[in-house]
Amino acid sequence: MSLLVVGSVAFDAIETPFGSTDKIVGGAATYISLCASYFTKDVQLVGVVGDDFPLADIEHFKSRGIDIEGLQIKQGEKSFFWHGRYHNDMNGRDTLVTELNVLADFDPIIPESYKNADYVMLGNLTPKIQQTVLERLNKRPKLVVMDTMNFWMDIALDDLKQTLKMVDVLTINDEEARQLSGEHSLLKAARVIRAMGPQYLIIKKGEHGALLFHGENLFFAPGLLLEQVTDPTGAGDTFAGGFIGHLAKTGDLSFENMKRAVIYGSAMASFCVEKFGTENLLNLNQDIIMARVQEFSKLSHFQI
Ligand code: AMP
Repeated sequence: MSLLVVGSVAFDAIETPFGSTDKIVGGAATYISLCASYFTKDVQLVGVVGDDFPLADIEHFKSRGIDIEGLQIKQGEKSFFWHGRYHNDMNGRDTLVTELNVLADFDPIIPESYKNADYVMLGNLTPKIQQTVLERLNKRPKLVVMDTMNFWMDIALDDLKQTLKMVDVLTINDEEARQLSGEHSLLKAARVIRAMGPQYLIIKKGEHGALLFHGENLFFAPGLLLEQVTDPTGAGDTFAGGFIGHLAKTGDLSFENMKRAVIYGSAMASFCVEKFGTENLLNLNQDIIMARVQEFSKLSHFQI
């Protein structure tokens, strides 16, 4: 089933305890769509870049079968740029620079062929633009998943709350859940946030896994222990791409299947963090992905 993805398509400069990169290609929609392309062949990308964005990376999207009709290329303008530095534990990070550039006045154009999308992934982006994308569709999608971050809570909280009313699933990290809800307990935070709109809430806890909340149901996916974590950038987006990708592939929105989707998201994120940028998301296959999903199953399986 078709999956519309919107979000930043960006240049990132990343500093981790293991090294740093100059401007490499990143952005929420980049990670989400590359990841989701392993689950469904009908990924439709909406985003904007400047004329500084490498054609080779646009070719990467195409080679993964991603529809880029909705990716605008603005002549004479610069792509979104983000510079982040990770703390020594690699879980926390500081944003050093955010240059919105083409994102500042981004008017998302939704091609006709995208307007009946069954699944929509609102990747990290100005909340108002996330909302505009939903308003420009022909019909209410089967499922809308939204990701956001503290940056937008700081500068666009009212818009963010408006957008939250229109989505089914919100994915944020634990620190952001506490900021958004004003509650320290994640259980209380989840209650407060779900009252803002989304029926489902996923709280990502970095290397410590992810929690899925819905009604009285709660599910915890562990984080996989990895030999090497090189760069956590994009882990959250890759998680989201695997989560919604699995749901779009199966068309099953039961809680049991949502649990599986959380594991697929976690497995894909575990590949992402092993290398800098999107490198590890370019050459996966079903066997490699399934082997990793099995590792998750083994890690937390036990009999009472
Ligand atoms: P993640 O590590 O999954 O939280 O996402 C990292 C990606 O988010 C990077 O590739 C950045 O380009 C992108 N990003 C950082 N800040 C923003 C922002 N304010 N709006 C949209 N995308 C952002």
